[in-house]
Amino acid sequence: MHFADPFSLPGCWFKGALHIHSTASDGELTPDEVVDWYRSRGYHFLALTDHGVLLTASFFSGGGAVSSEVGDFIALSGIEVGGTDPQTGLYHLVGLGLNGPLGLREGGGTPLQEAINEVRTAGGLVFLAHPYWTGQMSRDLLELEGCCGLEVYNGGCEVLDGRGFSNVHWDDLLAAGRRLWGLAVDDAHWWPGPEDADLGWVWVKAPALTQEAILSALEQGLFYSSSGPQIESLRLQGKRLWVSCSPVVAIDFIGDQHSSRRVLAPPGETVTAGSYRLKKRQRCVRVACQDAQGYWAWSNPIFLDGMV
Ligand SMILES: [Zn+2]
Ligand SMILES: [Zn+2]
Repeated sequence: MHFADPFSLPGCWFKGALHIHSTASDGELTPDEVVDWYRSRGYHFLALTDHGVLLTASFFSGGGAVSSEVGDFIALSGIEVGGTDPQTGLYHLVGLGLNGPLGLREGGGTPLQEAINEVRTAGGLVFLAHPYWTGQMSRDLLELEGCCGLEVYNGGCEVLDGRGFSNVHWDDLLAAGRRLWGLAVDDAHWWPGPEDADLGWVWVKAPALTQEAILSALEQGLFYSSSGPQIESLRLQGKRLWVSCSPVVAIDFIGDQHSSRRVLAPPGETVTAGSYRLKKRQRCVRVACQDAQGYWAWSNPIFLDGMV
């Protein structure tokens, strides 16, 4: 069994936005304006992921060469890589924590696996961006190696195009034995306004607010994602999984094959806890909670390896 459990770990929770565009590509705000925007809304860190442009911490705070740490707020280096693969078609990747430039082919013709390898070689973590919006099929993604996770929720794709939820892609890959974490992100551009920002974020448990600590926690799955609710704990006791959360109307325990279950609050009420009994030969389970406004929180999966 593999349970990346951020809830019982010592450390602090840090809120982060991991998919944002600025004037360095097709966003409306400058990098410093983006930092101010998120910082003033209670975020602790962000990554600017401009199209084909690697932005590191030195890009911020007046353009001077500064530390990645700006008091209680840090910027991770980031990029969004796009391409067209002969097999899988259009794809976008988010790379986080890269140390240097990428050696991608001109014209966006780098095959998907090759682009993933390039980001990894540059020291970055790779997340598959908005596979539902891009039109990728789960089968397109099954053979990929080196991805840390995918965007289970892309707020911009949802509010602008109605294709923000990639939970089926995630579950298909988990059921096939792939170990991937799920991110909620904004993909903010601020066009025409702030409608595509502050929609999806991660809460990361880490010992300190440094790029190294945040990236390490992201790589290990020590976070959960949200567009509203909070997950407070996730505990495995014997064959029963318990979750506690902020008030919600539904708690979903999503497993592979036929092992899923929804716990519903009574009509007009909310619940703050739920439990679920693991099934025989179950391979994995993840939790998703929906509040009365329709917002979600997503835990990362627990991999059971059929040991129950
Ligand atoms: Zn994209
Ligand atoms: Zn984007």
